[in-house]
Parts: sequence; structure tokens; C-alpha cells
Amino acid sequence: MKLKKNFVAATMLAGATTVMSFMSAGAAQAQGALVMYCAVQEEWCRAMTSAFERETGIKVSMTRKSSGEIYAQVKAESANPRADIWWGGTGDPHMQAAEEGLTVDYTSPKNSELQPWALRQWEQAKKRTIGVYSGALGFGYNTELLKSKGIPEPKCWADILNVKLKDEVQMADPNSSGTAYTLLATIVQLMGEEKGFDYLKALHKNINQYTKSGAAPAKAMALGETTVGIAFMHDIVTMVVDKAPIKVVAPCEGTGYEIGSMSIIKGGKNQDNAKKFYDWALTPAAQKLGAEAKSYQVPSNKSTPVPPEAPKLEEIKLINFDFAKYGSSDERKRLLSKWDNEVKNLP
Ligand code: PLP
Repeated sequence: MKLKKNFVAATMLAGATTVMSFMSAGAAQAQGALVMYCAVQEEWCRAMTSAFERETGIKVSMTRKSSGEIYAQVKAESANPRADIWWGGTGDPHMQAAEEGLTVDYTSPKNSELQPWALRQWEQAKKRTIGVYSGALGFGYNTELLKSKGIPEPKCWADILNVKLKDEVQMADPNSSGTAYTLLATIVQLMGEEKGFDYLKALHKNINQYTKSGAAPAKAMALGETTVGIAFMHDIVTMVVDKAPIKVVAPCEGTGYEIGSMSIIKGGKNQDNAKKFYDWALTPAAQKLGAEAKSYQVPSNKSTPVPPEAPKLEEIKLINFDFAKYGSSDERKRLLSKWDNEVKNLP
């Protein structure tokens, strides 16, 4: 009986040890890991990942996707979240996720160092997302292709409706791409909804492809696969820096801009590490990695040097972009399905 009791106790102990060592392995793992969804260019995502790993010893598992795709994934995983931090990409899906309770509020000690536009985003999202960079939307053209087609230099949104540009304009799909959603929201704010959709339908005649990622049209222009590409101006500048024959245009009618954002995912397994990353990502040391990876946005920390290549926001005619409205769940869903029904499915 005694033996049996001891056996039971030993078995229980062994079992407990197994559980405990399993738990401590889990805890160690939780202490040293971070799962990041990243929406900027792959090169910048990788630079952020390795710099943070070097700085903290925390192992980062990073996945790069477009802004709208990350939103869809975070929503699909909300019952059992896989990721801890969502870094970069346009603010609108971050705002939508905030409204839908997919992300958590956080006040970083770094907030006091940020530009007012970065904090406005944070306030409007009830502290659930924050601005990490900003940049203006525009388009570019391949100067050699344009010349070979004898087309005058486009300077305005209206100019890229030119019939001679049939199948010569590329943009992304606003469902997956934050860049393209910024275009959709910009055109609606600039022209009004009815005229704006007329414009997008007319533009559709010139579109050769709706790409998944927002920066793809800039790359396609550089490769000579499309004459005109609609993208963030800083993404087009990257191609110019790489010596592609491309000119960047700030459209004459005015244009929209983005507040690239960052959010902590609700229910992520490594919340403390997500906060560590969040605080670090707001420092000048982290933010200057953007320009080093040839991404030329305007950083949100006032002390991060603005890359000289970054398009000067103060020299561009910017619309008064309503981030709260166009980042709201209802408006975003409504505009995207309207675009699907009235524009994308046109012949
Ligand atoms: N890459 C850069 C450099 C950006 O500025 C942005 C916008 O935030 C994105 C990617 C977003 O890409 P997408 O349009 O594919 O969501």
C-alpha cells in the first residue's frame, strides 16, 4: 500500500515535472519571441526584424503582406491570434481593426517625441494604433515609354485618363493594398463620390492590371512593363534612386496621404514583447532604418532625420484627408464593395 502510494506520488510528481518543464519551456519561449505582421517593403521589414533581434535578443517571426491582407488575417485569427504586433502599412485597416476591437490600447513613453499627426491617429483610434510614418500618394511615369508613345507629360489625375494610355496605367487592388485604398478614398474626397466613381470607371479603361501590393506598379514602371504607375510617391522615389527612367508626379488637383501605423494585436501570446517592439519602433534609431532600406517616408519621431529623398509634404498640395471617416469599418467596407461592383468588374 505504501509502495503503491509512493508510486502514485512519484507518478504525479513526474507528471507535474513534465507539465512544469513544458510550462517553463513555454514561458521561456514566450519571453523570447515576437510574431510580427509587417506591411511595408520586404527589405525594410527584414531590417526592422534583425535590428530588433540584435538589440533585445527576442526572436522575431515576421510575415510580410499588404495592409488589407493583414487586416483580413488578423480578423480571421481573432479567436486564436497568432501575431503580436502589426507594424506598418496604411492607417485605414489599423483604424478599422481598432474600431472592431482586434487591437489593444497602449500609451508608449515615446509618445511625447512624436509628430502631431502621429498622435492624432492614436487619439482617433482610442489609443489602439499610432502613426509611424507619413507619405503622399501620386503617380509616376516611365519617361522612355512615354516619349516612345508621343504622349505629353501627365501632371494631373485628369491627364492619366488620356485614351493614348489605354492599358498603360497600373495600380493595386484596394481590397488588398492600403496604397490603392488611399487612392480610392483620395479620389472620393477630391471629386465627391459620384464624380469620383466616374473618374475611377474612366481610369479602369487604362488599367492593365490591379496588383496585390501597392508598390508593385512602381517596380513595373522601372521594368518598363507599364508606362504609368499609381503609388505612394516615396515608393516611386525608390525606383528613381535605383536609376530607373522614372519621373514622380504630385498631381496638380491635389492628393491624399497616408499615416503608416502600428498596432498591438489583442490576445497575442507575447504582449510584453509587443510593447517592447512598439516603444523601440518609435525611436529615431529604429525609424532611420527606413531610409537605409530605401524607403523614403517622413518618420513620426520628431528627432528622426527626414531622408533628403523623401517627397516634401509641405510642397505638395495635400487634401484634408479624413482618416477617421475613411478608416471606419462601415465606410471602408462600403467603398470597397462599391469599387468591386462598379469598377473592378467592368469589362
Ligand atoms: N510599402 C511602403 C513603403 C509603404 O509606404 C506602404 C504604405 O504604408 C506600403 C508598402 C503598403 O503597401 P500596400 O499598398 O501593399 O498595403
